[in-house]
Amino acid sequence: MLTKSSLEQINPPARLLMGPGPINADPRVLRAMSSQLVGQYDPAMTEYMNQTMALYRQVFRTNNEWTMLVDGTSRSGIEAVLVSIIRPGDKVLVPIFGRFGHLLCEIARRCRAEVHTLEIPWGEVFDPQQIEDAIKTVHPRILLTVQGDTSTTMLQPLEQLGEICQRHQVLFYCDATASIAGNPLKTDLWHLDAVSAGLQKCLGGPSGSAPVTLSDAFVQQVRARRHIEQGIKSAQHQDGEDEMIYSNYFDLGMIMDYWGPERLNHHTEATSMLFAARECARIIAQEGIDVCVARHQLHGAALDKGLSAMGLELFGDLSHKMSNVTGVIIPEGINGEQVRQLLLNDFGIEIGTSFGPLHGKIWRIGVMGYNARKDTVLTTLAALEAVLRHLGYVANEGAALQAAWDHYGQ
Ligand SMILES: *Cc1c(COP(=O)(O)O)cnc(C)c1O
Repeated sequence: MLTKSSLEQINPPARLLMGPGPINADPRVLRAMSSQLVGQYDPAMTEYMNQTMALYRQVFRTNNEWTMLVDGTSRSGIEAVLVSIIRPGDKVLVPIFGRFGHLLCEIARRCRAEVHTLEIPWGEVFDPQQIEDAIKTVHPRILLTVQGDTSTTMLQPLEQLGEICQRHQVLFYCDATASIAGNPLKTDLWHLDAVSAGLQKCLGGPSGSAPVTLSDAFVQQVRARRHIEQGIKSAQHQDGEDEMIYSNYFDLGMIMDYWGPERLNHHTEATSMLFAARECARIIAQEGIDVCVARHQLHGAALDKGLSAMGLELFGDLSHKMSNVTGVIIPEGINGEQVRQLLLNDFGIEIGTSFGPLHGKIWRIGVMGYNARKDTVLTTLAALEAVLRHLGYVANEGAALQAAWDHYGQ
């Protein structure tokens, strides 16, 4: 039923989004998105596409030619990479340390991979040696990793894994959606073959576009597969089916042909999202990617200092925590959902709840992208302290704000 409010103009409530994503988009990104459209093959548009590729090479710290956008949320980037590289029966290895490792397994199974997993308790990360040992026993074709898993706030060290993968001739993929631009990520230096991301975390945009970057070795293996037209032609060939990529929309071969000099028609690039993605990367390129990472580290640490000073316990192995998300253990006798509701309704601040084994046990507070600022951190701490005191939790009065503020050198 069409109600009266269905006909009203959209006018969302003012919110400060301090959860694990999405976050408030940078106003510059919103302005870029409201720009008028141009035709798909207008030279202005194809030039914006080329600029976007160049800008994301900086964000990913890569010289990979094939650095572009997949249209859709972060998971479209994950799915494009997996569906384009995995052939039925391929062995893949997935070290799982949170919810998004399970997602990689689920998508890989749909691609009919033989999925091998490693698991550790939530709140920990893997030692590279554990992963190398598993590679030696499983002999996977591809290693599927998550860099920062927002479900646990942990950051898996990747620096050594690329070299291990090279030694064992394993392709190395990483979902860096939650960590990119807030934590160091060096695609080329760390020998990553494919990395995918999304805008709604440290990149400071809305969800709906998935930047990806692909190494030459990865591209070669995607190109070696039959694409849909060849697949149909060779339907009688015995191996044709297995070699065919089972998605048109996510066929990276076709997406590369669209982004490349041939400009072969595939989808219609999501123009407004491209404007958004370009502006996110332009903001970071102007700031400097290392400065952007340092900004997330500064404000993340200030938040953590404040929370600890309030007497709250932080979740997980803190030496491997993402800079941009913190898990806070909900104190005994406090109703976590009630706290979130009071923060939202009375302060307009959203913090995150948790999934799976952590459900009801921790809140997740994010400091990322446009919201990685001093004022947002101080406001969030002040509001959280007020709410907790209101509910009977004895916070060390004023200590949180002071500790965070001190961290900024006031
Ligand atoms: C937040 C997050 C995503 C988000 O995926 P969407 O499709 O954009 O919802 C993906 N991967 C990781 C590791 C994340 O933290």
